Amino acid sequence: MKTFIQDKIRNIYHNPNCPYAKSLAKEDKRTINEHDAFERELIPCRHCQSLSYIFQNHMESYINNLKSKHLSYMLDGNWLLIQTEVSFWKIGYDRYAQKFFLFHGNTAPEDNIVTVHDKQDYHRQSDVMFMRSITEYFDYIYEHDRFRRGDYNCTPRGTKSQRDKCARAKKNLKKAERARVYALLEQMSTSA
Ligand SMILES: [Zn+2]
Repeated sequence: MKTFIQDKIRNIYHNPNCPYAKSLAKEDKRTINEHDAFERELIPCRHCQSLSYIFQNHMESYINNLKSKHLSYMLDGNWLLIQTEVSFWKIGYDRYAQKFFLFHGNTAPEDNIVTVHDKQDYHRQSDVMFMRSITEYFDYIYEHDRFRRGDYNCTPRGTKSQRDKCARAKKNLKKAERARVYALLEQMSTSA
């Protein structure tokens, strides 16, 4: 379970490394866990409980992940903009729920340079409403757009590594589809 620092005066909680947590006097703070933070209805810090802070703290692994999937990206304030060959995406973070959410723009970008689009260009990707980890969205975006592009071509006579790749791609696709169905069911049960 994650550890946070509670500001006892303002009832805000911070990441232990947050400069605002560090600047607090010893008697004004205490170490708490995730459960306490929710239970006490503390306010998530605007700085350290934001997408840009999270992204910058995991920068290397996130960027490697994005690069391995050929996803172009740009951090725009507290939005992470992502582009593939076939569409554009943006990921936001709900600091109260500690969950990420995803918007999709269903037109092909004109070039590789990631740009900010109008609000109306996006729609909420409702089959994957919330995710606890941002990398699950990287996987989702990758699978979604690869599927649309018909990127993998499974010929029976390929090499072993091609066949393995293909089998993995099919498996991932099934997994992504299952995840979509579960998310939909969850959404239906919570809105009922
Ligand atoms: Zn903070």
